Amino acid sequence: MIPLFKVAMSGDLSPVLETLQSGMITQSSKVELFEDKLKSFFNFPHILTLNSATSGLTLALRLLNLSENDEVLCTPLTCFATTASVLANKLKIKWVDTDPNTANMDLDDLQKKISPTTKAILFVHWGGYPIDLDRLKAIAGNIPIIEDCAHSFGATYKDKFVGTTGNIAVFSLQAIKHLTTGDGGLIFLPNEDLYKRAKLLRWFGIDREAKQESKNGKQTDSRMENNITEWGYKFHMNDISATIGLCNFPVAERNLVLVRKNSNYYDRYLQNLKNVSLLSRVPDSNPACWLYSLKVKHKQDFIKFMTRAKIAVSQVHKRNDINDCVVQYKTKLPNLDKLEKELVCIPCGWWVSEPELYTIVECIKLWDTLDHIKVRPLHNFDRDVYLELLGQLNGYKYEKERFDVVFRLLSNSSIYVLEVYGKVVSTIRLNTEIKFSNNVLHIEDFVTDKEYRNMGYGKMLLKAVLENVNKREYYKIVLGCNDGNVGLYENLGFFRSGNEMRIVL
Ligand SMILES: *Cc1c(COP(=O)(O)O)cnc(C)c1O
Repeated sequence: MIPLFKVAMSGDLSPVLETLQSGMITQSSKVELFEDKLKSFFNFPHILTLNSATSGLTLALRLLNLSENDEVLCTPLTCFATTASVLANKLKIKWVDTDPNTANMDLDDLQKKISPTTKAILFVHWGGYPIDLDRLKAIAGNIPIIEDCAHSFGATYKDKFVGTTGNIAVFSLQAIKHLTTGDGGLIFLPNEDLYKRAKLLRWFGIDREAKQESKNGKQTDSRMENNITEWGYKFHMNDISATIGLCNFPVAERNLVLVRKNSNYYDRYLQNLKNVSLLSRVPDSNPACWLYSLKVKHKQDFIKFMTRAKIAVSQVHKRNDINDCVVQYKTKLPNLDKLEKELVCIPCGWWVSEPELYTIVECIKLWDTLDHIKVRPLHNFDRDVYLELLGQLNGYKYEKERFDVVFRLLSNSSIYVLEVYGKVVSTIRLNTEIKFSNNVLHIEDFVTDKEYRNMGYGKMLLKAVLENVNKREYYKIVLGCNDGNVGLYENLGFFRSGNEMRIVL
């Protein structure tokens, strides 16, 4: 399987062992070193490390000094962490629809939903592809914006790193993100005041530096903290994570080049397909390409097809608004409803080799040219999949040699199969019982692959087959079924008649 995600871990972790044995394992000099490294990479002074992005988003909203039940405009298409941070602050959610062309927040809908009750805007740069920040800022006016940059390590917008354009921004250093510390997060603050306050609130509200100064005489017991004026969290990063981050930094920088190369390859070779289209991007941006998203018709079948080809694909984040815990905020999001039917991500990470890129593109192109659904007679080359399907019907293990013999004896159009993108997923057998008056048509060995049930394929096959039988040749069509399937057949015009009696041999 070509995976959708992988942990990017440095081959040389000896500094981590040194930290572990140093006697200083929670927040200390390594955190400072890591923050210095980040500040110089981003060329931005107000960066703090944290234990996760979820903590960072929770802290970000706290910094806005909102009141309980204040309203935040949120994007539903994101990791649940984004939504959890709003709930943790006891704030109210108003969902904004999703832009079907970018999977980012729909700025037209944002413009409509912004009102005097709006106290903050919270969104994610989907997949690390920047939202149109200038337009967003113009719409927001004075309303504070929080950027979930969890997918966006290294992304730029108009030559500035995403996260450094004047809003509060939060990055994730969780296991599968571009830069990982195992678990971890970053918060970027737009000014010195917020930076200082965030620094206090990430560790209980205690000024660690002032506490150290107390050793020089102001206070005799150096373990005692100074007065806490505003309570804070335990959200800081420790030296173990910071050392992992320092080791992984060059890895992340190198990987950024690789994922962008992979993303460009897809941009170039996945053009002009019938059932697959690409998302659009804002100009003047250089995405982080953490996800490579496509819009695909017949998405569920695409997922099955790619999985069969051992290529992992997924929507990655479930929409947040459909969870029971936020049911009170439910609202109509027509663009997201539409996008969700088509949105799917393909492997794009640093681990995807050139031959694998080629294979993935060829698979997608093949899928694009295959008929979605086709009904046709059984061929002898269908033997293995056919016997597997029959086995699903009754648990019997069929002999291949017997198939070969029986297949020769069958009249050539008595067994039909339904293919979905080239895979046989359902089969049916028509057995004519010859009578002296009109004949009877028996439907037998009707089964749909267990992976494809409840998707309407069995019904499609039966309908197609019944439409093609010569009605004048028969006086009735009969089949036996379980109680559970009675409804299905009644829908197709069958009715229950009598009891079936049997002796099982
Ligand atoms: C990964 C992720 C988070 C959560 O990050 P943690 O560091 O695990 O808390 C938040 N938002 C988005 C969009 C993410 O992908």
